Amino acid sequence: MIWSIKGKTILAATHNQGKLEEISALLAPLNVTIVSAKELNLPEPDETGNTFVANARLKAHAAAKASGLPSLSDDSGIEIDALDGAPGVYTADWAETPSGRNFEIAMTKAHYLLEEKNTPFPRTGRFCCTLVLAWPNGKDFVFEGHMNGEIVWPMRGDQGHGYDPIFQPVGYELTFSEMDRWEKNKISHRAKAFEKFFEHFAK
Ligand code: IMP
Repeated sequence: MIWSIKGKTILAATHNQGKLEEISALLAPLNVTIVSAKELNLPEPDETGNTFVANARLKAHAAAKASGLPSLSDDSGIEIDALDGAPGVYTADWAETPSGRNFEIAMTKAHYLLEEKNTPFPRTGRFCCTLVLAWPNGKDFVFEGHMNGEIVWPMRGDQGHGYDPIFQPVGYELTFSEMDRWEKNKISHRAKAFEKFFEHFAK
């Protein structure tokens, strides 16, 4: 069996608008049609894994089974060295409030914990991304990427999503939130995972 995706419809197994926009931009060269889990009203599975790959698999397989389409999930997050890798797989959870996700609260929490520990500068960490492309028959492919950088304060920039305003990638003076999308999409953790995805599927 040939696992080609050119010209196919791919389900983006995410309800996160920021991720969906980045995934759509990154997949544009493959001439695929993208529908999202949100558009199809698919339920969001509980992310019960304790690794990015476990959660990415869970989301991709649930979506592939429910839709009958090859489904691409992204599980990602930020690891902060001085916090022993936290928030890691709990990156989105740090933003949860009774009225929805609030990433200013999550970023303030990260900063507060770093201050509390008197963490020296640079306050290093990385964004991690695991992509899983799953087929309805249970076959899957896994691709990982990460981008090292520094956790900065105060928040800077008004583009992007999630923790972008406090992440300054190594070798750059701008945070992800100060970069335009095209620039971020060249160097991000997600872009790196997609490079591996393309090596495999852009044939
Ligand atoms: P999950 O993969 O749905 O568990 O959520 C991962 C969380 O990590 C997202 O909600 C974002 O807060 C954060 N995250 C992942 N990738 C990025 C990024 O490129 N920029 C900023 N935050 C990100």
